[in-house]
Amino acid sequence: MSDVLYAVYGASGCGRGIMPLAREQLSRQGVSLDDLVFIDDGEIRRVVNGQRVLSYADFVAVPATERRVVLAIADSVVRERLAARCAADGVLPWAVAAANVVVMDDVRLGEGAVLSPFVTLTANIRIGRHFHANLYSYVEHDCVIGDFVTFAPGVRCNGNVVIEDLAYIGAGALIKQGKPGQPLVIGRGAVVGMGAVVTKSVPAGATVVGNPARILKKE
Ligand code: UDP
Repeated sequence: MSDVLYAVYGASGCGRGIMPLAREQLSRQGVSLDDLVFIDDGEIRRVVNGQRVLSYADFVAVPATERRVVLAIADSVVRERLAARCAADGVLPWAVAAANVVVMDDVRLGEGAVLSPFVTLTANIRIGRHFHANLYSYVEHDCVIGDFVTFAPGVRCNGNVVIEDLAYIGAGALIKQGKPGQPLVIGRGAVVGMGAVVTKSVPAGATVVGNPARILKKE
């Protein structure tokens, strides 16, 4: 029986990018890579990029004293659902971070975060559960980020910004800094399009695109 069994949940694009970080992190801790698998409920291959793939049902059936899972799926709503499922089964969240991540001063990061290579978090930052910061993204001073927030690669989030739960920030988006006590707010579940330049607050549930970012009207 394994003491601790580790998994990357999702063997698609996001998960395959996170697996090497998971491997590297466990190697640094001296943990055997035999105790690391992908979980994927839709993948039919038994091995992906050299790592075993189990369904969630099979993963929880493997004898182990403890199970730790990083949710490696970009869709915030899916992550929220899977986090609840794992919690109900006593499967613990697992945070994975690249070795070259820079975390500066007074950064509080919630459980299950994924920090990809070249991510920087500067000072006095609060981040909720299951945050994803993809390649080269940064979070500047005094930002407050909610639960299940996703940053695609290259997101530049400047100081005094609040991002509420389940928001998705597209690749290369640039978010203008807010003011102390008067933050720029990206509302719950909002979507910021790829390359958008966000100069003012975004209402909950809205999708914004362009420079300066404007609300995309549904037709
Ligand atoms: N998936 C899963 N269980 C779920 C929902 C999704 O195993 O309840 C898997 C799905 O089979 C797929 C992956 O998660 O392999 C999501 O991949 P997708 O390409 O949609 O997104 P990304 O990897 O970019 O986050």
